[in-house]
Amino acid sequence: MTTLLTGRGPTAAGGRDGVRVGLDIGGTKIEGVALAPDGTVLAHRRAPSPEGVRAVVDAAAAVVADLTREPPGTGAPTGPGRPPTAVGVGIPGLVDPVAGTVGDAVNLGFGTARVPFGRALSERLGGVPVLVENDVNVSALGARELLAPGGDLALLSLGTGLAAGVVVGGVLLRGARGAAGEIGHLAIDPRGRACPCGQRGCLETVASGAALRRAWPHGDEGRSAEHLFAAAGAGDPAAVAVRDEWAAAVALAVRTLALTCDPERVVLGGGVAAVGAPLREAVAAALRAQATGSAFLRGLAVEDRISLLPPGAPVAAVGAARLGVPAPG
Ligand SMILES: [Zn+2]
Repeated sequence: MTTLLTGRGPTAAGGRDGVRVGLDIGGTKIEGVALAPDGTVLAHRRAPSPEGVRAVVDAAAAVVADLTREPPGTGAPTGPGRPPTAVGVGIPGLVDPVAGTVGDAVNLGFGTARVPFGRALSERLGGVPVLVENDVNVSALGARELLAPGGDLALLSLGTGLAAGVVVGGVLLRGARGAAGEIGHLAIDPRGRACPCGQRGCLETVASGAALRRAWPHGDEGRSAEHLFAAAGAGDPAAVAVRDEWAAAVALAVRTLALTCDPERVVLGGGVAAVGAPLREAVAAALRAQATGSAFLRGLAVEDRISLLPPGAPVAAVGAARLGVPAPG
């Protein structure tokens, strides 16, 4: 359970008695939702992300104010006089959810020091409790809410890096040191490429979005995956080879999740998920090929469990709004 930073204590902020706001703060945009106690999305907003701690806190506070402003004539249960019960924030970087601090959020221009983001936003919002969590973890919570209510789920984020958020029994799995789900740094090849983490041959060096762009440096920045899958779909043999090798590495990441957590669903997310159905098909084909000689692997039916994040849905913001809410009994 995430510790509250300020405010009215675990009962008020951890309960289901008011509107909760979730924010997904990324390098280009801040996406926010207001959730009713029953999980209904009451409002959904997007705003561009500025750079620097103060500017991001101000922009986040403006999105919260916008989300909780009473629409004219609706009698909605929010308004300027009714602050949200709690605000949950998903943010990239090294997040300490207990302290509410963020480190290494280079895309937001936060510099190298750890930033007490939760406290800063809470103060800016007049003491509303703010809970802060890693962006991959809130995506996992949101995916469970939207795709698999009640089931255990792993969200595999295929972005610049490779990491998974795991929800077991409705609760985020963090582990003793917060490293649960960091399968991108499983070193699979001692002769492989050096990884920024200091090891060599990490899964992230072959299965992430960045790895895909290294292997297929075509298309616009951030669109290499679409370019690769389109070229492979059109029959370009070089693209087919790159796609299949990369998909085999992603399939290994999926198998790692299946064999450590055994979730009912493994959801593919992150920037590469914009590829859509061809991504799911390529990874499923790799999983089938890898299980060919193993009745054990075939019996796990891992390829039947993979799906994609629905495009355009505010998954991470919904997950952020659920931070601190007790799992259904
Ligand atoms: Zn690594």
